[in-house]
Amino acid sequence: MKFNTGSAMKASVSVSQDQLIDWLCRLVRIKRVSGNEHEAVEFFKQEFSRFGFQFKQSGRNLLAWRGSGKKTLLFNTHTDTVPANKGWTLDPHDPLRKDGRVHGLGANDAGGCLVGMFGALLSADFDESRATLMFAPTCEEEVAGDGFEKFVHEIPHFDACVTGEPTNCEICIAERGMFKLDLVTRGKSAHAARPWQGVNAAYLAARDILKIEELYEGFTERDELLGRTTLAVVMLNGGVARNVIPSEVKWTVDGRTIPQLDNEATIARVEKALSEHTKIEQKKVRFGVWKRDAKDELVQCACKAAPKSKVGAFGGVSDAWWNQKAQGLILGPGLSEQSHAADEWIEEKEVMRGYEIYRGIAEKFLGQ
Ligand SMILES: [Zn+2]
Repeated sequence: MKFNTGSAMKASVSVSQDQLIDWLCRLVRIKRVSGNEHEAVEFFKQEFSRFGFQFKQSGRNLLAWRGSGKKTLLFNTHTDTVPANKGWTLDPHDPLRKDGRVHGLGANDAGGCLVGMFGALLSADFDESRATLMFAPTCEEEVAGDGFEKFVHEIPHFDACVTGEPTNCEICIAERGMFKLDLVTRGKSAHAARPWQGVNAAYLAARDILKIEELYEGFTERDELLGRTTLAVVMLNGGVARNVIPSEVKWTVDGRTIPQLDNEATIARVEKALSEHTKIEQKKVRFGVWKRDAKDELVQCACKAAPKSKVGAFGGVSDAWWNQKAQGLILGPGLSEQSHAADEWIEEKEVMRGYEIYRGIAEKFLGQ
């Protein structure tokens, strides 16, 4: 089959569940931990060529498209995975089809989205002289880097972007901001037999850590979709020997924020709550709060394409953040709790459902 982009031909193919699962299993076999997506890039280049798509490549990012019309929809999701954790009992790269599920690393995050979006690119029915559908499989979503956050600036104008992440096909139009603070609490070391000669950094840090808990519990700001801003102490490290009063404790705070209490305002409150013994060594603020209007045309199209899906918020952070201008939403087959999980799986019929919803969104949005 060959698509003559720019012509007014209409695709009439439908992608079967078998085809989707075949692509998914081939992707599972490819090792594609963040930074090593080369083979996944080759996979998509081959498939794009096989189906006659135009595409461009920049680093480990690809953009394929159909049509030459003005109204443009972009599908984006990531080719990279996290490394397999120690809990895996299966071979992460040997796809196992069992009980209607496909097990394998990246099968859920974001394999189902990748094959569903590709299937939609292949088969969505729209007038190619009036609209354009683009699909960008990009790298390094799981780490900061060279993926969509850079590539978005090389993509021609688009009116709307669907970000593929496993949401159980719920329509997510918001995600919380995120920051990490690396802190150090300093005291004075002494022999453990003479604690009065030192200042125990463990006690100083403990008091400041409890202040973080108190601060978090006192947050009264709420967002109807995103809930509340959260703070969590996530790492704690101190002490040099069993007989030494520690002079230093290093710890890390993770913050997830809402528009009513954003990254900046939350960090200011943390700074104010800490004693003079604790200093912030490093602030990492990669994602702000991202939120779109439920009345947007794209969201309305998604509601029609997936009438059983609820409109809500995404639990984590995603590449949707880098789409700052266009309409947007996050949606994909699979369960968020299966992402990064040992023996990760996705249901085969869920992959099909994701594909059908993506296709429906494209046809509704580009047909208007
Ligand atoms: Zn993901």
